[in-house]
Amino acid sequence: MEITLRQIDKYRFLIPKQGNMYTDGIIYTTSEMLELIKNDQSLKQVANVACLPGIVGPSLAMPDIHEGYGFPIGGVAAFDLETGIISPGGVGYDINCGVRLLRSNLVKEDIIPVIEKLVDTLFFNIPTGVGSRRKDFKLNQTELKAVLKNGAKWAIKQGFGWSTDLEHIEAGGCLPQANPEFVSNKALERGKAQLGTLGSGNHFVEVGYVEEIYDEKIADAMGLFKNQVTVIIHTGSRGLGHQVCDDHIKVMLKAAAKYGISLPDKQLCCAPISSPEGQKYLAAMAAAANFAFTNRQMITHWVRESFEQFFKDSAEELGLDLIYDVCHNIAKIETHIYQGENKRLCIHRKGATRAFAPGHPEVPAAYREIGQPVLIPGDMGRYSYVLIGTKKAMEETFGSTCHGAGRVMSRHQAIKMAKGRNIAKEMRQKGIYVRGAGRYTLIEEISEAYKDVTDVIEVVHNAGISKKVARLKPMGVIKG
Ligand code: 5GP
Ligand code: MN
Ligand code: MN
Repeated sequence: MEITLRQIDKYRFLIPKQGNMYTDGIIYTTSEMLELIKNDQSLKQVANVACLPGIVGPSLAMPDIHEGYGFPIGGVAAFDLETGIISPGGVGYDINCGVRLLRSNLVKEDIIPVIEKLVDTLFFNIPTGVGSRRKDFKLNQTELKAVLKNGAKWAIKQGFGWSTDLEHIEAGGCLPQANPEFVSNKALERGKAQLGTLGSGNHFVEVGYVEEIYDEKIADAMGLFKNQVTVIIHTGSRGLGHQVCDDHIKVMLKAAAKYGISLPDKQLCCAPISSPEGQKYLAAMAAAANFAFTNRQMITHWVRESFEQFFKDSAEELGLDLIYDVCHNIAKIETHIYQGENKRLCIHRKGATRAFAPGHPEVPAAYREIGQPVLIPGDMGRYSYVLIGTKKAMEETFGSTCHGAGRVMSRHQAIKMAKGRNIAKEMRQKGIYVRGAGRYTLIEEISEAYKDVTDVIEVVHNAGISKKVARLKPMGVIKG
């Protein structure tokens, strides 16, 4: 099928319903970025998603779109709970990969002279790298199942964090559908020693500062101010989530055939949400999501401890509050207004972030008036953004926006391009101290391997599906 594309307005492009598509595709981007997007199969993937039964509204893609497993990364799709499907490819392998932002009372001048030692402390305290495990902290099966059931509140109960953290996490840090019984032993085995570890290269803990504020009032409501030190944490559900995805893809391949769902691509394998296979995946996915929330919570605790060791002051005094935690690989059951009526839908966000509007009941009380904080990392050498959800996102994208810059180069291409360069040294000259766990991490994660996140942010801001609040600049990063 040759994909036809039509421009709707400056920031939106339409793939009109054609062939076996049940609905249109809509891509948020610019004509310049669209040329890059055409280099991979991601537009075809947007059209493929529109061929899945029970899809409600268009098959959507955000400006950080690139090719993924089945669904594109940067894809958003809503499905009817009775007639629709759920698909592991619409969530991704790193279930509930997501981003957290911590604030502080420190300013960048407090950090500049000590950044190397601070980053070394973080690197020492937080296990980092592909197969990273904790030596001091291994859960037994019962404890692990409690994590999968309860999410971040398990960590708080064990003393890893503050009770106020929970209000500042999407879904309160726990998806209630979670059922550990549908998580395989192999997945549990992989998860046992990985709680509180960062994982591979794209995952990071980054100390930075607020370089620019776009909306004073909203920044103030979040506790953000210019030159303030911030910490971003980006990680997901590690080997456990990966195994849950793998296990359920096998089940879904059979289920799709069993329920007579014709798949334009096997990677879109799925089952009706209401079927036993669909319900089991939903329960296992939620369990893996809870593992990821807990993972980010444990890392938050060790970040606070590292700052305490370092500044000889309590994390409370240092003001290391959690601003927010967002998921960017997830399927959620949500209520949306569709064609004038309230409808319960299953929203797949794969490399996409929830961006709920002011007043939404699922936005925590602290942010109810301003809207949900949206956290968009860029890359280790340039900047990241804080935004806020909007009414327009509720109307057009089921309350969703982008999740990052998105890669423009594969890891392999990056290694080839940057051969012989000393990335750590280049970064240090720019005032950023980076430590990577893997031999090639820093080369694979070089800024040039990613789009300029500003281009992505301009699209979502100008299209109105989220609104810029602040830009953050990195000072020190630990990478997996
Ligand atoms: P993903 O979950 O898709 O791997 O990554 C999300 C986004 O994080 C990427 O698209 C990229 O823009 C961003 N990112 C990757 N590494 C870093 C980093 O070290 N620092 C910051 N600030 N952003 C990063
Ligand atoms: Mn991620
Ligand atoms: Mn991830």
